[in-house]
Amino acid sequence: MLEIFSLKGKTALFTGGSRGLGKAMAVGLAKAGAEVTVVGRKRDQDVVDRIAACGVRGEFYEHDLADLDGIPALVARVKADFGKIDILVNNAGVQSRHKAAEFPRQDWNFVIDVNMNAVFFLCQEVGKLMLAQGKGKIINIASLLSFQGGFTVPAYAASKGAVAQFSKSLANEWASQGINVNCIAPGYMDTEMNTALIADAGRSRQILERIPAGRWGKPEDMVGAAVYLASAASDYVNGTIITIDGGWMGR
Ligand code: NAP
Repeated sequence: MLEIFSLKGKTALFTGGSRGLGKAMAVGLAKAGAEVTVVGRKRDQDVVDRIAACGVRGEFYEHDLADLDGIPALVARVKADFGKIDILVNNAGVQSRHKAAEFPRQDWNFVIDVNMNAVFFLCQEVGKLMLAQGKGKIINIASLLSFQGGFTVPAYAASKGAVAQFSKSLANEWASQGINVNCIAPGYMDTEMNTALIADAGRSRQILERIPAGRWGKPEDMVGAAVYLASAASDYVNGTIITIDGGWMGR
């Protein structure tokens, strides 16, 4: 039974695996048997070591995803080094909090480039390889702000709304060609991205009170869904968004 969740023999390109949700998911894919190539701005040897400790090959590729022009060369390098890419996880993301009336254009553009444009153009570039292979799994990390507007995070909400929507567009085009495109929408997770939110005692209490599970999420909470969407177990799952939020969205 567990065979359908196995990622043995698969190669993943994983963005933002140096900490937080990404590190847990990248190591989780390796534990399920995949070779994992991690993309981030600065090499994190710890994730490479943890992948290798699972008995599979891992590598780190330094690339700032705001550099959209560099994406084709990045994908070509991974393909040259590993021979193929079976799984793409677009996890890297940034946050910028400002009141809408004062939101700096530079921050707006940076959030949109990393969270939205880089995700689309990585899907496009890796998607070409997957179309040629006739098989592939794409997992884009969305957010509760793919559904809701949030406070003081309009660029983030815009970027995550877009990721959820174009993931459906890609799923519609590619489902019949063996490529599954889906999203995972994490709820409120205890990671570096939320340091400011957690430090704001009032907002932090309000958020916790609304989570039926009664706690913030942990990086490990993401692993099961990532392995599922990367594996044969999800072969008939297309264009969906799995929320991992302790029940927030149902409230
Ligand atoms: P995090 O702890 O801040 O980690 C973000 C990761 O993205 C890091 O590995 C970071 O690596 C990488 N990254 C950021 N900017 C990058 C860039 N320009 N180029 C390449 N890599 C970059 O965030 P997290 O909380 O784990 O979030 C992971 C994903 O889940 C994000 O897409 C986020 O939007 C989403 N999410 C998080 C929450 C939450 O509550 N935490 C909720 C909903 C959705 P470097 O900085 O070393 O490059």
